[in-house]
Amino acid sequence: MERAESIEYCGHESHHHHEGHIRDYAVIAVSAVLVGLYWFEILPSIFGMDTALLAAIICGYPIVSEAVKAILQRGDTKVGLLVSIAIIASIAIGEYFAAAEVALIMTIGELLEHMTLEKSNSALRKLAELAPLKARLIRDGVEEEIAAELVAVGDRLLVKPGDKIPVDGVVTSGFAAVDQSTITGESLPLERREGDSVFGGTIAVTGSIEIIATKVGQDTALGHIIKMVKEAQDSKAPIARMIDRWANWFVPLSLAIATLVYLVTGDIVRGVTILIVFCPCAMLLSTPTAVAAAIGAAARRGILIKGGEILETAGRVDTIILDKTGTLTVGKPRLKDIRCYGGWQREQALALAAGIEKRSEHHLAKAVMQAADAVGAQYVEPEIWKPVVGQGVAAELQGTRYLLGNKTLLESYHIAISEEQEQYCAGEQALGGTVVFFVAGEEVAAILVIEDPVREEAARVLNKLYPAQVSNVVLLTGDAAAAGKAIGARLNIPVVHGDLLPTDKVEYVKKYQQAGHKVAMIGDGVNDAPALAKADIGMAMGYTGTDIAIEAADIALLADDLRKIPEAIAVSRRAYRTINQNIIVANVINVAAIGFAAWGLLGPVAAAIVHNAGAILVVLNSARLLRVATAVK
Ligand code: ADP
Ligand code: MG
Repeated sequence: MERAESIEYCGHESHHHHEGHIRDYAVIAVSAVLVGLYWFEILPSIFGMDTALLAAIICGYPIVSEAVKAILQRGDTKVGLLVSIAIIASIAIGEYFAAAEVALIMTIGELLEHMTLEKSNSALRKLAELAPLKARLIRDGVEEEIAAELVAVGDRLLVKPGDKIPVDGVVTSGFAAVDQSTITGESLPLERREGDSVFGGTIAVTGSIEIIATKVGQDTALGHIIKMVKEAQDSKAPIARMIDRWANWFVPLSLAIATLVYLVTGDIVRGVTILIVFCPCAMLLSTPTAVAAAIGAAARRGILIKGGEILETAGRVDTIILDKTGTLTVGKPRLKDIRCYGGWQREQALALAAGIEKRSEHHLAKAVMQAADAVGAQYVEPEIWKPVVGQGVAAELQGTRYLLGNKTLLESYHIAISEEQEQYCAGEQALGGTVVFFVAGEEVAAILVIEDPVREEAARVLNKLYPAQVSNVVLLTGDAAAAGKAIGARLNIPVVHGDLLPTDKVEYVKKYQQAGHKVAMIGDGVNDAPALAKADIGMAMGYTGTDIAIEAADIALLADDLRKIPEAIAVSRRAYRTINQNIIVANVINVAAIGFAAWGLLGPVAAAIVHNAGAILVVLNSARLLRVATAVK
């Protein structure tokens, strides 16, 4: 699908599909040759027409005609008009060479800019196609994870809490609260049950449903992420918006100053020169080129930045808040130990626990199911299943209530644990293990200790971040504080808070924001989504992360590698710096050139060179962002 580019260079709407490029090349080649022939006095005129004038017409015509079209069709009087006036005025006063030169350099500059932009656009497009969108296909009663594109109409699919529904479909069983804000803009989750239809691209916030696919491929909302990515570059940084508004003043202002200079000095050449240097091409290019290059460079490194304004904020982050499970740890948990109580057998406990976890999206669920598979236990599935985000699951089977989760969950159901159990848990948590309680009725039936290895790169990444890049690093976990502290100590994380609910995580984010910090929250789970949305910058682990977390985040780290965190910050800082450099360069050149032109120290040709040198300098400076060095070895 082709997308119309909306970034303008000196006011003429871009036409840089390949035919556009070929036309540009042809125009540039022909006029460059003509200008050369004129300059070296090989061919001062062709068929009695001044060679430079011919070049000016060939090269200037597309610019002038597009400026005229812009006015007639859209009432758009941006700076394309200024360039056109300068070209026409130069021709009118006999400065053919200057007119040709201005037009030629404008066209070259535009081409250069578009080539830079296209490079970053194609990187984005490729990435969008790779965005992980999975489906849980049910075939012969067995769940199988497949790519969403492979889903066919009529397929039966399982949707777990936090999943993005892969295609449009109709619910056949189960019950879920579905967040359809991506499609309908309605932010309140809708309850969906048997017979209801669901949209691809919406999210099952809680609950689990089975659906039958009714629409697949491009017909669905499935293309949503892809579109979003493509739109990312269109969203402008605040600086760019400011410049846009400003641009409308340039035409009248420059005409006024040019007229004034002409009236004062009586020199029309000076007036035309002012028009040429006044055009703020470099200024207009300063932000969009840097934003596009930075987003493109980041995208190729598995860092999906959802908009230009995010770069500006991400560059100022000074506080990093990390989630533990699935973010600092690899998200591949393994059952380390299980202790049974009250006459329960290991197999029996695992059979029920696995039956309860079967519908869960949590990393820990995999560990429980694997452990059950390992001992050959047949899953016993509950009749009622209710997830408690960040705490576990409550279930019911044949009148008995079962709980599977952390201590907070037990406390909310007033389940007590013994001294011995307490000590056992404390010992395992001190080693960084996650303790999951399995409660049957009112009694603890088993305690499961689950280990999830810390990501291999975590320590190095944190050393890189703190204190060099940021001044605060905080670990927030829904797991027990003791387990969090054990991991925190291993990784030199100064501040650790545990036993948190999703809303507690939001409170900590707010606390740091109120203290004047720019907070980046990094998480992966359903329970992190509110904090990701609240933080100045939310970063989601895109590979292990749940769709709801990715949706809530500003930046998705598709490469599932913590090294992307300092990289994302570094790219943003560089982009921000580049934008500022560009603006300074553009302004200094413009203001100086206007001054020199007014004093008669700059002729139209020199003005065009100086002016375009500024624009090209800005584009090249932005293009440097495409080659961002790896931040952490
Ligand atoms: P973190 O914030 O470190 O990523 P989570 O908030 O995802 O951790 O989980 C918090 C705690 O809630 C877990 O440590 C676990 O004890 C409990 N929990 C949540 N969901 C489940 C589940 N499906 N099965 C077992 N325990 C769960
Ligand atoms: Mg997590």
